[in-house]
Amino acid sequence: MSNDDLDFDAKHIWHPYSSIEKPTAIHQVQSANGVRLSLSDGREIIDGMSSWWSTIHGYNHPRLNQAAKDQIDQMSHVMFGGLTHGPAIELARRLIDITAQPLQKVFFTDSGSIAVEVAIKMAIQSCFAQGQHQKQKLLSLRCAYHGDTFGAMAVSDPINGMHQLFEQVLPQHYFAPSPTCKEDADWQDSDIAEFRQLISEHHHELAAVIIEPLVQGAGGMNVYCPEYLRQVRALCDQYDVLLILDEIATGFGRTGSLFAYEQADICPDILCVGKALTGGYMTLAATLCTDKVSKRIAVDGSGVLMHGPTFMANPLACHVACASLDVLFESNWQQQVQQIEQQLIVELMPYKDNNLVKDVRVKGAIGVIELHQNLDDAMTWLPEFIVEQGVWIRPFRNLIYIMPPYIINTDDLSLLTAAMGRIVDQIAKNKLQ
Ligand code: PMP
Repeated sequence: MSNDDLDFDAKHIWHPYSSIEKPTAIHQVQSANGVRLSLSDGREIIDGMSSWWSTIHGYNHPRLNQAAKDQIDQMSHVMFGGLTHGPAIELARRLIDITAQPLQKVFFTDSGSIAVEVAIKMAIQSCFAQGQHQKQKLLSLRCAYHGDTFGAMAVSDPINGMHQLFEQVLPQHYFAPSPTCKEDADWQDSDIAEFRQLISEHHHELAAVIIEPLVQGAGGMNVYCPEYLRQVRALCDQYDVLLILDEIATGFGRTGSLFAYEQADICPDILCVGKALTGGYMTLAATLCTDKVSKRIAVDGSGVLMHGPTFMANPLACHVACASLDVLFESNWQQQVQQIEQQLIVELMPYKDNNLVKDVRVKGAIGVIELHQNLDDAMTWLPEFIVEQGVWIRPFRNLIYIMPPYIINTDDLSLLTAAMGRIVDQIAKNKLQ
């Protein structure tokens, strides 16, 4: 490992949510294979994060490598304005095929945040085109996370989303409480009461409700029950408000079904997918909508949807995404996710009795230990401690969680859960000192 490189990195390169003046410890990755990252200092670590929940098939997958190579030899990129190409057509066909039947239109974007921006535009434009010019607001949830661009930030949790800092630029939306209903508990009508109140009071100014189905991810790793989604769908219908489901984190099997909305047996009007769409190989996302939404947009004069990024429907990304879907459907992913879920339950639930632990949650291939205390102070020693355990886990706030690639075997998964336990133990030890 070259110290020069790491020095240069520390001095000049911004990393996600980091300070350039006070850089924290960082590790250089040389290569990656299966569920393992090889660091340039020679260490090998098991990736519990799937590179922010995207590399569901693991790294350096021969089929995905081949798809990328094949497409590069055809064309790596071509503009999408006035032109189209096979990989985009094929991927759109597949997405329409695997999502709920009413979702028939696809808009390709280059990241999850932009997929959310497009979803918001679709919703507002479709109301506007119908003469409902006052319907420009959204109803979201506390602890939501929908991305880092301004439109997406505006519908993310007001505190985590740093609304105060950007107060003057962020549009104001409405927020219902984060759902508290647990999967195994009886449904209480009070769980939806505030949401119902907000939608009934403000529906005339609401273009859409936006929600991460079943699992709120980066805003708090909150797992909630399908009944909440059914109630939301019914209220959206009752008040003629569109429903946007953000499945950027949950899509492609992560919660145990291909899409989380399937567990509630509902269909969104607009759906955002990303992350695992390309098996984590490259950046690509998509916003799908129903014919009802697209027809509404088209009613207005030109009917143009006002978006069109330079790298829209990048052929390389689309072709790899098709290969990733092939790999997914040829695998026994349901069984893999179910096995991961069972093992996470067995190996993580015992931590519920630990004094430091507030809650343990498991849903599909997602395992979360929520502590009573925030981990910000531990960030001076925790990242190196984690790598020393031979794993890659990235806790945030009071949450230690994993979302491993579906291909992980039981031994490697045990190493991850054991490392989560050792993190808790070390925090307890430090408290005593
Ligand atoms: N929505 C959700 C639910 C997400 O988890 C994320 C990313 N963590 C995003 C949107 C934003 O996606 P991206 O980082 O690709 O812009």
